[in-house]
Amino acid sequence: MRIFNTLTRRKEEFVPLEEGKVKMYVCGPTVYNLIHIGNARPMIIFDTVRRYMEYKGYEVNYVSNFTDVDDKIIKKALEEGVTSEEISTRYIAECKKDMEGMNVKPATTHPLATQEIDGMLDMISTLIDKGFAYVAGDGTVYFRVKRFPEYGKLSHKNLDDLQSGFRTLKVSGEDQKEDPLDFVLWKPKKEGEPFWTSPWCDGRPGWHIECSVMSRKYLGEEIDIHAGGEDLIFPHHENEIAQSECCNGKLFARYWMHNAFLNIDNRKMSKSLGNFFTVREIGEKYDLQVLRFFMLNAHYRSPLNFSADLMESSRSALERIRECASRLADRKKNAASASLTEEEAALLKEAEKYTAAFEEAMDDDFNTADALAAVFDLVKFANTNVTEGSSAAFAEGVLGILTKLCDVLGLILEKKEEILDEEIESLIAERQAARKAKNFARADEIRDELLQKGIILKDTREGVKWQKA
Ligand code: AMP
Ligand code: ZN
Repeated sequence: MRIFNTLTRRKEEFVPLEEGKVKMYVCGPTVYNLIHIGNARPMIIFDTVRRYMEYKGYEVNYVSNFTDVDDKIIKKALEEGVTSEEISTRYIAECKKDMEGMNVKPATTHPLATQEIDGMLDMISTLIDKGFAYVAGDGTVYFRVKRFPEYGKLSHKNLDDLQSGFRTLKVSGEDQKEDPLDFVLWKPKKEGEPFWTSPWCDGRPGWHIECSVMSRKYLGEEIDIHAGGEDLIFPHHENEIAQSECCNGKLFARYWMHNAFLNIDNRKMSKSLGNFFTVREIGEKYDLQVLRFFMLNAHYRSPLNFSADLMESSRSALERIRECASRLADRKKNAASASLTEEEAALLKEAEKYTAAFEEAMDDDFNTADALAAVFDLVKFANTNVTEGSSAAFAEGVLGILTKLCDVLGLILEKKEEILDEEIESLIAERQAARKAKNFARADEIRDELLQKGIILKDTREGVKWQKA
């Protein structure tokens, strides 16, 4: 398996630190709003990387954080007149719902920055003790970038170039830094902000230190893969490397993977530009499996432009796979004969070549677009060779291959309508529980949510019944 490593700018053969195991950290979202489909790109991509690793027999320890202390969260809390914690708790729950909708597996651990402050104080103290960090007059702790000669190795930036760029870009607080390149590890609280006590001042951590600490705690000092969107290469990941390698005295991560942006009209989709769609909005219009397909139909290192046309073609392409799967299931159920004929046995063997093509594509830096092409070749094969006269075993065998490959991509072959009933039932159960607990607000919210999906609830003597509007 070869992975394109941002660190070396080459595809490299993947060799895990420990045989059969993968330690992987993916930078997660800052939770102050519903996630947009740009944020969904790394989630879907690295979930697929994980699934493929698991398919290859690796045990994957997959850690992805939620950044739950940040200026944007504080701002939103002030706007709503609630605590930052209320905001982050709400949007973590919403994010998890979106992840489930996109069939992104929960991480092995989803650490929260605010629960890991002790580890951050510990790492910052070590960095100060080793001379890699210093405390300024107001209690801000800075990382001393010049003490780390390898700074810039991930983003392939040269310290001198960085320095001259910074000289023209003086920002506030700059005067108390020893060097304009130095970055914040800990900063003093401002009025009304959440804070923690520390040896330096009451305050809160800088963003970069969070990931260095959470990665070390849940995966160890050295990990196999660190991943995120390409905007994180500099400064976030560069700073994580500086902190972790100076603190631990070891290489931090062996392989650095970065996805390219999801764009709209060739501009990065982002909250600040306002040119985004939330996953929730897309989910109202499409089965989120269509979004997953759309993401996987491009290479993760290529920019991807979002458009209604591409979503429509993703929808019909996914439909083609699903129709094939449903026809194979039908054939399996209604076949006249049970066991394989000699000819079918040979054909089934031949069909394994699609698995080989799929693996070859995925082994080449997770080329999901080519992997999908192999899936479509299999669909074509199935449509030609599994006919009314086929045996149940043959239909089952071909369906088995199709399901196996789609599972790796996290594509669910059942149609949304088929799973909708379960979803409705579980929402109804949640509403009943809310009513029992006298949480009528939540109960009403669920009724409205169902209504939006076109489901009308009726309270009857036999319990709650539902019907489509
Ligand atoms: P944020 O909440 O902005 O820190 O983003 C969380 C993750 O989403 C990071 O890995 C970002 O790099 C990634 N991300 C944000 N916007 C986009 C986009 N338009 N395309 C691809 N990835 C993105
Ligand atoms: Zn991070």
